Amino acid sequence: MTTLGILGGGQLARMLCLDARRMGFRTVVWSGTPTAEPTEGVADIVMKRKFDDEEAYEEFCRQVDVATVEFENIPLETLRKVEDSVGLFPSAESIGISQHRSREKTFLREHGIPCAPFALVNSLEELKAAYEEVGPATVLKTAAFGYDGKGQVKITAGDELEAAWESVQGEPSVLEGFVDFLCEVSVLVARDKDGRCLAFPVAENEHRNHILDLTIVPARVPEETLDEAKATAIKLAGELDYRGLLAVEFFVEKSGRVVVNEMAPRPHNSGHFTMNGCVTSQFEQQLRAVCGLPLGSPELQGETVMVNLLGDMWNPELKVDEIFATEGAKLHLYGKSSPGERRKLGHVNVVGGTGVEARARALKEKLLS
Ligand code: AMP
Repeated sequence: MTTLGILGGGQLARMLCLDARRMGFRTVVWSGTPTAEPTEGVADIVMKRKFDDEEAYEEFCRQVDVATVEFENIPLETLRKVEDSVGLFPSAESIGISQHRSREKTFLREHGIPCAPFALVNSLEELKAAYEEVGPATVLKTAAFGYDGKGQVKITAGDELEAAWESVQGEPSVLEGFVDFLCEVSVLVARDKDGRCLAFPVAENEHRNHILDLTIVPARVPEETLDEAKATAIKLAGELDYRGLLAVEFFVEKSGRVVVNEMAPRPHNSGHFTMNGCVTSQFEQQLRAVCGLPLGSPELQGETVMVNLLGDMWNPELKVDEIFATEGAKLHLYGKSSPGERRKLGHVNVVGGTGVEARARALKEKLLS
């Protein structure tokens, strides 16, 4: 029996563990944090130890046959050691690229993958020079991936540069051209040990307060745009010599052309629709790719809309009936006991029949009221 090691103990680890258990795999979660609530009772073993804990590293590697990640912000040194000891998919190198906006954007540019124009900035002088090149409509983002809302500021005039630089506290950053997009879409691809790569259907994403709110599949964009997004994600996975599951987020420009916004070396919130909408879920696909098994069919079985459940819209006593009363609604909760306003507590996939999107939107309004 294969034991899969997972670095990180959030909801993505939970859902991977659930699929792993269904298929008879054992799981060991190393959370890196003092709590790992979503994985309790779901993983075979949960290690709530820091990532720089040498004994934890040895214990983890002793127990697992192969390892993967459920989030990218894990010390590179830990990733490299696990990789050398038991094998890590995706590789420490791929995860390292996605940890840092400047490394990621540079990789995209060097490999001919379309992204918004950008320049790396390390000082106010460099920011001023970059603004000449990339402006006038821009977004300044800190290079190291921060937490929600932190480290992003829109700049539309030269006299805003100093305040913007102060607001990112002088941290190494990327100045990006602002993309006047039609919509945002994402593609999940899985690439196996032999380099075979399959894309899930393209998902259209709507955000609320910078957090994913609804995912609509298939995305309502022209066929050529769907093809271009899939082909770009597959090309990116190939250039990275990737093994595992890769999420790629895109802006769709008014022309229908796609440009990459960012990537994530793991399952993604916008891929939760696969759990009820596709033949194979993103988590099963991750497990297959990581464990060296043939990939499953990513085929869409019918229109699917995913509604994210955030802390501000969730009161279990009052709302759970609304979900069960909605035709084709499938509830997924993450086992979190303290519902902070912006915390992701679960999601609902609405599938089947006609008017899927209307049913999903009506449910969301009820949950918000
Ligand atoms: P990010 O954290 O980079 O995914 O950005 C969060 C959100 O900010 C994106 O989903 C977009 O809605 C918006 N955004 C970020 N970068 C840009 C950009 N270059 N042009 C337009 N909108 C952007």
